[in-house]
Amino acid sequence: MFENSITAYEEAKNVIPGGVDSPVRAFKSVGGTPPFIDRGEGAYLYDIDGNKYLDFVQSWGPLIFGHCDKDIEQAVIETAKKGLSFGAPTVLETKLANEIVEMYDNIDKVRFVNSGTEAVMSAIRLARGVTGKNNILKFEGCYHGHSDSLLVQAGSGMATFGSPSSPGVPADLTKHTILCEYNNIEDLRKCFEASDDIACLIIEPIAGNMGFVPANEEFLEECRRLCDENGTLLIFDEVMSGFRASLTGAHGVVKPNADIVTFGKVIGGGMPVGAFASNEEIMNNLSPDGAIYQAGTLSGNPVAMAAGLVSLQKIKADKDLYNRLNAKTQKLLNGFKQAAEKYNIAFQSKSIGSMFGFFFCDIEPKNFKDVGTCDFDRFAKFHHEMLKRGFYFACSQYETGFMCDAISDEDIDNCINAANEVMELL
Ligand SMILES: *Cc1c(COP(=O)(O)O)cnc(C)c1O
Repeated sequence: MFENSITAYEEAKNVIPGGVDSPVRAFKSVGGTPPFIDRGEGAYLYDIDGNKYLDFVQSWGPLIFGHCDKDIEQAVIETAKKGLSFGAPTVLETKLANEIVEMYDNIDKVRFVNSGTEAVMSAIRLARGVTGKNNILKFEGCYHGHSDSLLVQAGSGMATFGSPSSPGVPADLTKHTILCEYNNIEDLRKCFEASDDIACLIIEPIAGNMGFVPANEEFLEECRRLCDENGTLLIFDEVMSGFRASLTGAHGVVKPNADIVTFGKVIGGGMPVGAFASNEEIMNNLSPDGAIYQAGTLSGNPVAMAAGLVSLQKIKADKDLYNRLNAKTQKLLNGFKQAAEKYNIAFQSKSIGSMFGFFFCDIEPKNFKDVGTCDFDRFAKFHHEMLKRGFYFACSQYETGFMCDAISDEDIDNCINAANEVMELL
């Protein structure tokens, strides 16, 4: 049933490292062959063997309306016909920036880039340039793209400067990154005591890259307070949570506001887009107005802007969208929870808006270490059995699930029925 994908995977591995252009796609943590995708339609993915899957990954978040949304598709085709790239300003960029600025009190200006990684990299340069400080504070388990200074792992003990988590990253770069435990106020305070040279604190306020683990309110308030006290800029990395957790992402869910916000995923509607944004005073430090350099040949690409623009316009016009997404997500997780209870399986689940996570675990994980205590073998079996039944979930317990508007109540009922069958096997 996976013959074509198995062959395609072998052929890909000959010419692409690991056969994939982003490691998670290789299914390493659950094993087996990743289905090679032929096409998507609404809630469904179709692989090159003709298998059909209900898709709870949605390109890892961007596709809030599902695959091949007609309005987005049309905007992309019409824009592409006028030329793919100019390296010159277009009004589409202003329009998309306006959509974002209108929604956030703390944002006056936006700069577009081509990926979340680039957005975060640039936001950090901006924070360092504005504050004149060098260090970055980040949290274990939060992912902010693959740039050098963010690929860090804990040194010995907490509140330490990180060491590289990947070969190829010089320790000279990660020595500027302080690593702190998520949702741990005491550790956070120690980090600020350890350095008076912290340019920015970067956080996923609703973490989606160690599984789905939201920060608690008190912790985020303390982040805000300590940043203010120390002349440190607070960066909310909303590349995933932006337009996913709510209409204004994490900002619509938690009290503190960030100084700089990074975006990606949904704002490109499936095309490669990232952005970083802040108030006028901070953003005016960027070149060409200011001295902090940042650039991109394909940045603000018209086709990508068109896809993002229609996505955000559709999101804003549909007042009931997040209620629907939220209700469907909760229905799914409640069904899973009941199935787990029925077969006596330790299970935790959580969701905000259209983002969700579940863990085979006794207690709800609050940080990266907690997630590590969950049952990974059981997750791998669950993933496999669900895939066989036509349900495509993120292939690791360290990832988040995404609900899209194209998934129907009936789809969810079918998925819950399948989960009941699978939980019985676990
Ligand atoms: C996906 C993600 C990134 C990286 O974005 P890419 O487009 O993959 O470079 C950064 N931060 C967060 C929170 C993300 O979820």
